[in-house]
Order: sequence, then C-alpha cells, then structure tokens
Amino acid sequence: MIVGVPKEIKNNESRVGMTPAGVFELIKNDHTVYVQSGAGEKSGFFNQDYQQAGATILDTIGQVYALSDMIVKVKEPIAEEYDLIQKGQIVFTYFHFASSEALTKAMIASKSICIAYETVEDKEGTLPLLTPMSEVAGRMAIQQGAKYLEKPAKGRGVLLGGVPGVAPGRVLVLGAGTVGIQAAKMAAGLGAHVTILDINMKRLRYVNDVMPSHVVTEFSSEFNIRKLIKTHDLIVGGVLLKGAKAPNLITRDMLKEMRPGTVIVDVAVDQGGCVETTKATTHEDPVYIIDDVVHYCVANMPGAVPYTSTVALTNVTLPYVLKLANMGWRSACNLDKSLAKGLNIVDGEVVYEGITEAFNWEP
Ligand code: NAD
Repeated sequence: MIVGVPKEIKNNESRVGMTPAGVFELIKNDHTVYVQSGAGEKSGFFNQDYQQAGATILDTIGQVYALSDMIVKVKEPIAEEYDLIQKGQIVFTYFHFASSEALTKAMIASKSICIAYETVEDKEGTLPLLTPMSEVAGRMAIQQGAKYLEKPAKGRGVLLGGVPGVAPGRVLVLGAGTVGIQAAKMAAGLGAHVTILDINMKRLRYVNDVMPSHVVTEFSSEFNIRKLIKTHDLIVGGVLLKGAKAPNLITRDMLKEMRPGTVIVDVAVDQGGCVETTKATTHEDPVYIIDDVVHYCVANMPGAVPYTSTVALTNVTLPYVLKLANMGWRSACNLDKSLAKGLNIVDGEVVYEGITEAFNWEP
C-alpha cells in the first residue's frame, strides 16, 4: 500500500502523523511511504530522518494526497484539505465529527474511508488512541501549575516540593482517571502533598495501592471539595463523564474560599471544564485571573510538547496503521473489532451512530 504523511496545516498544530520509526516499520512490510517535505520539522523529525528510514519526500500536500492509498495524520482535515481527499482513500486521523457538520458533509461527499482515532475502542471500553494525550496533559498540568504558582506569574509563591524546614505545596486533583493519575504521579515526584478525588471507588483503590503515602484519596463530593480548596495551592481538573459536559465541581462562589494566588489547571476544558469560571485559552495566552485565582485552561495542552506528543501518539497508532496497510481496511476491521469502532464514514455513508444524532439528522 502507499501511505502518505502530509504536513499538518491546522493553526498551531506541530505534531505529525508518523515518525521515522513508523516509516521504517512500513517499509519493512513492503509498503511505500510518501512524506511531505518539512512535515515532521516542528516535532524534531527532518526530511533526511524520514529518507534514511525509507520514505520518499514529496514537495506539496497535493502530491501526498494524490498519490497515497492511505493518509495518516493528526488533526481533522481543514477546509483547504477537503478537495484533496480521494474517493476510496483511507484517512486515519482525529476527526471529532460531532463538533463539525461542515467536515462531516465534506467527508461524506469525498467518499473516502474515515477512521477516527478518537472512536477506536478496546474491549475494556477505553480509548487507546486518546490515552497518550491525556497522559501528556496530566503530566504537563503539574509543570504548568508549578510555573504559575510563582509570584511573577501571580501565583501564591509556593515551591511545590518545599525545602528542608518548609512544608511542600499541596495539590488537589479532581478525577483519578488517566489525566488525574499522571498529574498525581508528577506532583508526588516533586515532593508535593497530593489529594486525589473520584466518585469511582475502584479508581481510588487503585491509586491507594500504587501511589506513595503522601498521595491521599478522598471521595469526590461537594462537601469535601469545599473543604479541600481552602488548603490546596494547585487544583487540577481531570474529570470526564463520557459523551457529556464535565460537571462543574468548582463553582464561582468557591473561588472566594481559595487563598489568593491559588492556581487551577482545568485539563477538562475541552469538555467544558469542571470549574464554572473555565473558558478555553491558548498557549499564546494561557492564563487569566478571577478573584485572585489563576486559571490555566489550554484546550490543546499536548501541542506545546510536539516531540513527546508525536512519539506518544504514533506509538499507539502504528499497530493499526500496519494492520490497515497489510490487510486493507475491510479485512483489518473485520479482524480487529477495536479498529472497526474507528470507522465513522465509509464511502459516503455515516456508520458511527453518534454523528447523525449530533446534527439531528434522520438516521
Ligand atoms: P478518564 O475517563 O480516564 O478519567 C476521568 C475520571 O473522572 C474518571 O476516573 C471518573 O470516574 C472521574 N469522575 C467523573 N465524575 C467525577 C466527579 N464528579 N468527581 C471526581 N471524579 C469524577 O479521562 P481522562 O483521559 O483522564 O480525561 C480527563 C479530561 O481531560 C477529558 O475531558 C479529556 O478530554 C481532557 N483532556 C484534555 C486535554 C487538554 O489538552 N486540555 C488533553 C487530554 C485530555
């Protein structure tokens, strides 16, 4: 099969759909890989790295789309890319169709095979192609939170690890899922005192089993949250209700209960946030302050660390890319039910039920 890796052209997207290591594996399996010139540069992978792995570099995005049986990328195609997509071409990427009717209509019209990273689902019901980005965001939440706790950034002026003779900072993590556990782990590693809350006792038992003793668990309730926000320096929002808006666990009136300079990193901002005062920000202008509480609410946190994010993403997409290339999409999806869940639009037909519901279309 011929696999194409175009450069991402969506604003502020620095990741790339495949690393040279992925190219190497495809070439080993007798496939051809076309990479657009400069596609990996912002992630730290250069044309010569791809060439050494066996790829052919093409000058333009148009050539990559025109010559490839399968396109492997990161973000959903934007309007400039719609007409480049070919009938019958596999497009393997994040699509998030439910949030764009225009994209959905364009992909229906293209008659391509759209396989969405975000709906590939394993037997346990987890989303393996979303997990690495939550891991990145969870770990980054502490790095960013520590930075904004510094006084010049209007934070409380607290060093998370403390020093001998000074108690460490206190981190409150809402949600003990992927984001929450990674955040707790990073904060604990810095020596901070960590409290992590969830409504799922299984998650809390797991945290209690694997984390050191300065990570404590409490049940997530309004009563506990009101108590804990008064004494914690950094609050990380990592809750998720599948397919729904995040619950507002921190309401506006609670900000007044926090000490001035408390920092909130609301990672759940992409689902509306778990803090009432959350509004999405960008890496260019990541924070704002309400009632002396610093809010960091960047909706694409992994975008700031494209090398790590690209490698983490391609580690998990590559086995599926190889299956699709080796077997073709029909056989690959017949054999692998997780991958089959990724099928969203096939040859002009919507095959993923959430999409028609999102736009109130007739099924
Ligand atoms: P996850 O499903 O692994 O974990 C969510 C956890 O929230 C679960 O353990 C669940 O039990 C818990 N939860 C639900 N309701 C709760 C409540 N009332 N109180 C406490 N906990 C509660 O999800 P995840 O992968 O960790 O993702 C968390 C959020 O982070 C999602 O909204 C995801 O989209 C977002 N995210 C954002 C970025 C970014 O760049 N901003 C990046 C990656 C993920």
